[in-house]
Formats: sequence, C-alpha cells, structure tokens
Amino acid sequence: MKLINKIRKFSSTISLKYKIWIYFIVFTIAVFVLLWIFQILFLEKFYESMKTRDAAECLDEISESYKKMDPSEFSSYIDDMAVEHDICIEVLDRYRRSIYSSDAIGDCLIHGRENRTQVYITSILESKERKIRYKIRNIRSDCDMLIFGCALGNPDNPEGYLLLNSAMVPVGATVMIIKRQLMITTVLLIILAFFISLYLSNWIARPITNITKSAEKLAKGDFGTKFDGRGYLESQKLAETLTYAETELSRVDTMQRDLIANVSHDLRTPLTMLKAYAEMIRDLSGDNPVKRNEHLEIIINETDRLALLVNDILDLSKLESGKLKMNPTNFEIKSKLEEIIGRFSGISEKMGYNIHFSSDGEKMVNCDIVKIEQVIYNLINNAINYTGDDKQVFVRQKNTEDGVLIEVEDTGDGIEEEKIKLIFDKYYRSENHKREVVGTGLGLSIVKAVLKLHNYDYGVRSTLGKGSTFWFRISE
Ligand code: ADP
Repeated sequence: MKLINKIRKFSSTISLKYKIWIYFIVFTIAVFVLLWIFQILFLEKFYESMKTRDAAECLDEISESYKKMDPSEFSSYIDDMAVEHDICIEVLDRYRRSIYSSDAIGDCLIHGRENRTQVYITSILESKERKIRYKIRNIRSDCDMLIFGCALGNPDNPEGYLLLNSAMVPVGATVMIIKRQLMITTVLLIILAFFISLYLSNWIARPITNITKSAEKLAKGDFGTKFDGRGYLESQKLAETLTYAETELSRVDTMQRDLIANVSHDLRTPLTMLKAYAEMIRDLSGDNPVKRNEHLEIIINETDRLALLVNDILDLSKLESGKLKMNPTNFEIKSKLEEIIGRFSGISEKMGYNIHFSSDGEKMVNCDIVKIEQVIYNLINNAINYTGDDKQVFVRQKNTEDGVLIEVEDTGDGIEEEKIKLIFDKYYRSENHKREVVGTGLGLSIVKAVLKLHNYDYGVRSTLGKGSTFWFRISE
C-alpha cells in the first residue's frame, strides 16, 4: 500500500509528456516479453497439444468411418487421411493382423512393429480404454513420436484395432530462428517505439502544455492571453472554453473597475457636498433660517443618494448569495403602482417630469411586495433618468388572463441592440451615460435577480432615437 502511494506520489510529479512516453515504452516491452514467453517457452508444448488434438480427432473420424464405409473404399480413405494429417495409420483385424496400412510418411514406428514399439502397441491393443497415447523418442530420426491407438467397435470384444503414428518435428531449430528474429525485431521495435512514443507524447502533451502556460498568464491577470489548443478535438474544446472564461473574466474585471470608478465618484460627490454645506451652515448660514434650511435640504438629499448607493450594493449581494428569501403576499397592484409613482411626485414637480399612468383596473397579485416594489421603482427611476428632453414617462398596467403585464416606457435615446444583452449585467453602465444621473450600474441587475427569483418573464424593446420600453409579467 505504501509502495503504491509512493509510486502515485512520484507519478504525479512527472509531466504528462514523459508519463505518456514511459507508458508507451513499458507497453512495448510488455508486448515483447509476452511474445517471447509464448514463442520461445511454450512453443513446444503448444505444438505437442496441437498434434495430440489433431491425432485424436483423426482417430475418432476413422473409427466412425470404419463402421459405415465400404471396405473397398477404406484403403484409399486411410491413405488420404494419412496425407492430410501428416500421420501413419494402421488398421488391424481382431487377430491383430494388419488389414489396412497407409503409405509411410517419414519415419513410422507402427508399420514395422519394431521391438521397441511392440511393447507399447501390445499395451494399446490389450487396453480396455477408449484411446491410448504414448510419447516415444525415436532415436533414428531424433524426434518424438506420438503413438495413438484404440479398439474398433466394442472394447470388450473388438472388431479390430486402429493405430496412429504422428511424428513431432523437432522445434529446437525453429526456436533458434524465431529467437534470432525476435531479438532483432525486439531491439529495432523498442528503438522505434522510443522515438515514435517520444514524438506522440510530445504531440499529445503540447496543446495541454500551451494551454497551461496561457492559463498561468491568465491567473496573473493577463486577459489578452491566447489559448492555443490546436492538435485534437478535446484540447481545442478546452482552449475554446478557457477563451470564453477569459472573455467573461475580463468583462467582469472591466465592470468591477468601472464600478469602483463610478462608486468612488458617486460617493465622493455627495461627500464633498455634505462637507461643503455643513461648513457653510457652520460658517455662514447658521443664523439665517432660510439659507440654513436650504443647505440642510441639500445635505438630506445627498445623504439619500449615498444611502441609495449603499443599499443597491447590499441588496444585490444579498440576492445573489441566495440569503434573501421570497416572502409572497396578496396585494392589489394598481394602488401599489400609484403609490410608487407618487413617490416621484417631488422630482416630477421640481424638474418637470411627467409620469403618465394607464391601468386596466384593480387586480390582486401574489408576490414579494417589497422586492417587486423595488423592481418597479428601479424601472421608473431609470425611465426618468434616461428619458428624452420632453421628460415624458409612461407606466402601463395591462391585466391578462394569467397575470399582469407591467410596462415602463421612456422617450430617450434608446439602447443599441448589442447593448441590450449587457444592461442587465452587474455593474454595467453605458459609457455615454449622463454623469448627473445617479446610478451604480446595479439597478437592472437587482431587477433581473428579483424577477428570476419569482420566475417572471421580463425584457426590453428599444428603438434608437425613440425610446425604450422595459416590461415584466407577474404571473399567477
Ligand atoms: P444605472 O442606471 O445605475 O447605470 P442600471 O443597472 O439601472 O444602472 O442600468 C444599466 C444601464 O442600462 C444604464 O447605465 C443605461 O446605460 C442602461 N439603461 C437602463 N435603463 C435605461 C433606459 N430606460 N433607457 C436607456 N438606457 C437605459
């Protein structure tokens, strides 16, 4: 166990390239070891078992044919079988006299009934077993002989006997040739495998190494780095995925930088104002109630701006972390819309904005009243911020069979097609937004997070130069 762990630990320190290379070489060596074992060590055993099987099959076939075949055809049949299987065949009658004998192929121990073999043949003839096999060393031809025999018909009262002689060609010489051949092939192929596997491992590892180098650069914050995954499909896909991740990271990074720039600007402006007006009250207007109230009003407004900013950031982080849970209640939407619009009456009167409200009538809805209120507020607030010089904003409540459609329309510059996808993203603020517009780039992200939490459809229609209509549907 310890050794395996050590090997694992060591293996994890080797680079992919060398690992693949080592695996290839080990595989090649293993293949050759197996080849050597089978070709050299087991060749003789394999050969003998092959010969035995062949002779046994032959024995069965001839025994069967003896029963069925016409005696006149049997002799030529025996000769054919002998040639086909490279064996000698002898058929004896019940008195052990030879009645059929194949032509001798090579050296044959059964035809001459040599003294040496007689003892085996006698034992075969007298045996009650179905099949008998003997392996005898033939000194004349210096090779092993396999002698098989069986009784024909009933072994207790045989009609005759069948003897087979199969010569085993010595495999020593063959083994020597194979050994030489294998030696040369092994050396050549291992050298070849060494270089081919080096090339292959390089080829497989290169895209991964390249991608890793680029990923390291990306980790250090270089968003311009290119991911080169050329080589094969998987590396190509990995490179594409990382390129996508890089684009997204770069976008978030830019947005976060923008947010810091925007937030710090937006924080600094009210803070400077707060300080300036507080000083003015202390030094100048403290005794003048009219001036003092005017200055205090500005301080209150600026504090509101600050609170808005901080609240937006807090709300979004809570929504995104999933900490804010939905708290649905039943309420009437028309009066809610009127109430929210009413909150803009101050700015409407002071700055001349006109918010037109049209409604299909009272309708009960069931959703988180506080969060939906924030959605409507943010949309109207944006419409006021971005509407055209005519300062018109339209809020519409359309009752449908399965809920309520709420639309907020302005007459501003509209939003370019490609930016529509981005405006609901966190921290996104168009670069040409008016500085006097109070905003953090978080308003629409809060809208999106709340509507997603409710599973409500939402969207925006916009025509450049004419204005935009933001909508969402409260479904039942
Ligand atoms: P903020 O208004 O604080 O910048 P938002 O998330 O509310 O942040 O809006 C993101 C961006 O979407 C805005 O900066 C603006 O460019 C664009 N936008 C939002 N509402 C409108 C609108 N009614 N008309 C045109 N552009 C809009």
